[in-house]
Amino acid sequence: MVTENLTPRGRFAPSPSGRMHLGNIFTALMSWLSVKSRGGKWVLRIEDLDPQRSKLEHARMIEDDLLWLGLEWDEGGLDDIGTAAPYSQSLRGDIYEEYLKRLETTGFLYPCRCRRADILATQAPHRSDGRVVYAGTCRPVRLGGCTADSAVADGAALRLFVPDMDILFTDRLYGSQRANLAEECGDFIVRRADGAWAYQFAVVVDDALMGITEVVRGNDLLLSTAQQIYLCGLLGFPVPDYAHLPLVCNAQGQRLSKRDSAMGMGELRQRYTPSELLGKLAFMAGLSADGSSVSLPQLLRLFRWPEAKDTLEIC
Ligand code: GLU
Repeated sequence: MVTENLTPRGRFAPSPSGRMHLGNIFTALMSWLSVKSRGGKWVLRIEDLDPQRSKLEHARMIEDDLLWLGLEWDEGGLDDIGTAAPYSQSLRGDIYEEYLKRLETTGFLYPCRCRRADILATQAPHRSDGRVVYAGTCRPVRLGGCTADSAVADGAALRLFVPDMDILFTDRLYGSQRANLAEECGDFIVRRADGAWAYQFAVVVDDALMGITEVVRGNDLLLSTAQQIYLCGLLGFPVPDYAHLPLVCNAQGQRLSKRDSAMGMGELRQRYTPSELLGKLAFMAGLSADGSSVSLPQLLRLFRWPEAKDTLEIC
């Protein structure tokens, strides 16, 4: 239906590996404001693909913290509200299987037995940014001979070939972006040797099936966006709009982590009321001149994207 296509649909997709911090809640707020200021829908997806790090109690806490601030979701969450259920990635394995079959038909998948140490050993010495580029060690001379099932039976990971070409997209904050995946990351994993689904693959399938039209997240995922756009093309999915946000840093200029308890939601909820915290977040976003208390309805009227800086300092 035409009207449905016009409704903006955003999502917040936290990994329940700990309590949210100021940076996570900033992302949630910007994503919520962006779709809600245009009458859209907001989906909460629990990204619990990593069984070691994901905990149900963290997911419950994330929901509690969002609701405390007034950020209600229209679909998703642990109660699986909506037609695209389940909304927890750990329960979506059958769906990923189905779309892996579609990816298989491209002939671009191949089994990979490299261990992390092997991959690191092939890295060019100048790559000091920590980013790993796969050198193609396991890539067959001729692609197309691999089925996903045979790779699993062999205990191999599944890797996806990437061509030497630029992926272009426009980010709402940072403008025109260009990434050559062959140079930036090389062929990448879609399913690990232990059967776990890779983030890039699961996110693309989920965003498409959940009808997401706008992805809002930290600018540390700009390269992932190029990988995801490539996957969308192979799977025949529409490409959503993207808005990447400056990363929130502490006073020492370091990116916040879930271990920074001073900026965790536990402490913040003790120090501030919801409207006081919204005031701080609005100040960080450039929506308020003085950081004083503000309500969500007020912010809906004021909403615009923050300036495209690399990082935002906590006030
Ligand atoms: N699950 C990711 C995180 O918590 C977010 C991924 C995304 O928004 O695409 O960092």
